Amino acid sequence: MKKSLINLSYYEATANRQDTYGALPGDTSADVVVVGGGFTGLSAALELAEAGMSVVVLEAGKIGSGASGRNGGQVCTGFSPGQARLETQVSKADARLCFDIAEEAKDLIEARIAKHRIDCNLTWGYLHCIPKPTQMDMLREWRDEYEALGYSGCEVLDKQSLQSKLGSTLYHGAMREPRAGHFHTLNYLKGLAAAAVKAGAVIHENSRVLDVDSGPSPWARTATGKVSARFMVIGGNAYLGKTVPALHGRVMPVTSYIITTEPLGEARARSLILDNEAVADSNFIVDYFRRTPDHRLLFGGRASYSTMEPSDLGAYMRPRMLNVFPQLADVKIEHAWGGYIAITSNRIPDCGRLSPTTYYAHGYSGQGVALAQIYGKLMAEAIRGTAGRFDLLARFRHLPFPGGPIRTPLLAAAMLYYRIKDALA
Ligand SMILES: Cc1cc2nc3c(=O)[nH]c(=O)nc-3n(C[C@H](O)[C@H](O)[C@H](O)COP(=O)(O)OP(=O)(O)OC[C@H]3O[C@@H](n4cnc5c(N)ncnc54)[C@H](O)[C@@H]3O)c2cc1C
Repeated sequence: MKKSLINLSYYEATANRQDTYGALPGDTSADVVVVGGGFTGLSAALELAEAGMSVVVLEAGKIGSGASGRNGGQVCTGFSPGQARLETQVSKADARLCFDIAEEAKDLIEARIAKHRIDCNLTWGYLHCIPKPTQMDMLREWRDEYEALGYSGCEVLDKQSLQSKLGSTLYHGAMREPRAGHFHTLNYLKGLAAAAVKAGAVIHENSRVLDVDSGPSPWARTATGKVSARFMVIGGNAYLGKTVPALHGRVMPVTSYIITTEPLGEARARSLILDNEAVADSNFIVDYFRRTPDHRLLFGGRASYSTMEPSDLGAYMRPRMLNVFPQLADVKIEHAWGGYIAITSNRIPDCGRLSPTTYYAHGYSGQGVALAQIYGKLMAEAIRGTAGRFDLLARFRHLPFPGGPIRTPLLAAAMLYYRIKDALA
């Protein structure tokens, strides 16, 4: 893994649990073997264990090594490409059901936090900011679409109203959502893992799956043992690599980077984002940021398909932050890290079955904090015999990404195209 992707993150530095789980000690069996201990895998594991099934989770690194432990912590609404893209493949009514499923993901997060007493600072409120004045109509249409889908309370703010909430002159307006927000992603993930274990699931860290069989009696094998099961759930997302050849090429890993400032003090942090919302801009290559409970700014963005590694990640990200908040020029960067986002070719998540026993879900395309919870839950629901909602999500078709030597240059060129597009007013 690239050096910057394993830098100490703000989340690790402020984690409120230090649970560890031993590696798989040898051969064993369970009703379900889960590959990957991120939101997808642990959400499925928790649901299945609560339903009385025996579950073994195999995690290659530590709980939190993947995207779920190192993301922007933004709990988003709906699907990354929007409803219109869903409607190119399913009926308007089915696309509406998909939106409802995505809304349920937020309720699920809230319910789990309450039920399992997960201390992770969930805060509601979200500002989608527009970098171009010509995008005001887009915000109004977006608000009206949400209203029509039954999500009320979103408001469109003009530049002047936005500036009373956000200490930046960069944006020309925003849509404020009441029911999207942010949390400490690693504390939530660790709480989810602890809840799954309490419900009876067994987690093994440092247990990379090297090989799987998705036949009638599926199994997953690590260097130290094999888990045989009746069902398998694959939730390796961008980190799965070529472990399951049938899934390779269905998603593309994209690198995203995050920095946090030193603590700014409450007044200065409030002067940046008065009401403590999560914030993102509407560019294709998104800048996203928010305050932390200890009054830092957490700022992410700069997606990259290229394998080139910035030598100083803090210095690489700082100009983007100063572009939004030039008043932070005197502020130190204390943490800088990165991670892999899995995107699909149409940015709709990809899920399905490799066989009647083996389920997978991945490719949330930058919106998996909420969506991975519900895709995990719906895989569990399908394994338990109620597959209708999972089968709806599995109907979406995706073009595979190209393989071979042209893969990276082609995607780097695509990213350059979108950077130029974002820059043009
Ligand atoms: C920097 C960054 C910022 C982001 N910001 C946001 C945001 O603000 N809001 C949002 O909605 N989404 C965001 N995302 C995306 C979001 O984090 C993901 O969509 C979500 O966490 C996916 O969860 P997952 O469980 O599917 O994958 P992951 O969390 O990546 O988990 C996969 C796990 O599988 C393990 N694994 C892989 N291969 C194997 C194997 N062979 N054997 C065993 N284990 C294996 C990995 O170690 C990993 O722990 C961001 C992602 C990144 C990287």
